[in-house]
Amino acid sequence: MGVACAKGTVLAAAPYPAYASGDGLACHLSLPDGDHDLATTLAVSTALIIAGSSFTVGGVAIVVILGFLFTYGMVLWRNWRLKRSALPSEEVPEVHAIVEQCRSRLGVRDPIRVYIVNAPVLNAYAVGFRAPQSIVVYTGLIRALDHDELAYVIGHEMGHVLFRHTTIHALTGQLGLHTFGIPLLGYFLRYIFYFWMRVAEFSADRAGLIACGKLEKALSTQLKLSVGPERGAQVDVAPIIRHWRENDVGVADQLKDVLSTHPVAQARMDKMVDFAYSGAVPDLAT
Ligand SMILES: [Zn+2]
Repeated sequence: MGVACAKGTVLAAAPYPAYASGDGLACHLSLPDGDHDLATTLAVSTALIIAGSSFTVGGVAIVVILGFLFTYGMVLWRNWRLKRSALPSEEVPEVHAIVEQCRSRLGVRDPIRVYIVNAPVLNAYAVGFRAPQSIVVYTGLIRALDHDELAYVIGHEMGHVLFRHTTIHALTGQLGLHTFGIPLLGYFLRYIFYFWMRVAEFSADRAGLIACGKLEKALSTQLKLSVGPERGAQVDVAPIIRHWRENDVGVADQLKDVLSTHPVAQARMDKMVDFAYSGAVPDLAT
């Protein structure tokens, strides 16, 4: 059973039976998401850096191969864990309808699994190496967003899959962690990788906008994720659209991004307004 959800209605308090309190394995596996990854990544990366510090050709090759194997293994493990602990979107009709809408508007043919994880987190992400790849949406996000806003988020994550960002990330996610004994190499690789990640976010935002079909809702989602759902819901986006049509993000704001994997919200809104008014988005309500 789910909560009826017409467009514009908040998807709230849908029952997620797999996550009833005390649900042993499911709760244990789904709640501390990220902690295991972080601990394992730190441990293995430290071992790889030590192994690579000898800087021999053989050492470098071993570290690169181990790094790819490790990252690939992490992707497989995360997918395995999702299958066992998360709720498939098919079991929540409101979310399933949004997934199908995104799939249709983006022309997605490959199978993509969408999972719901019960945690009060305003987040979603895509993970995978090859089809079927997975998208994870937290219940905190489902409760905070309405139908169109959730379509923007799920479409954004589908964009990451469509543009093969998830595959590239799976292959290169260890960049910057292996220095091979070369001073500053880690920083250099990290800046390049972060730059690519920020550009990838802009691309995925375009997919989100197409999937959602409403510029106003794409911007309201960015606001809610940026300043919180309550304050974001109080903001009128019409003046924001006018502002970004007449202005661009300044260099100073862009420089704030250099050490970040995600662009600042202003830059994302600016780019989406530009894209919306370029006429490239079919059936877009602006
Ligand atoms: Zn993204």
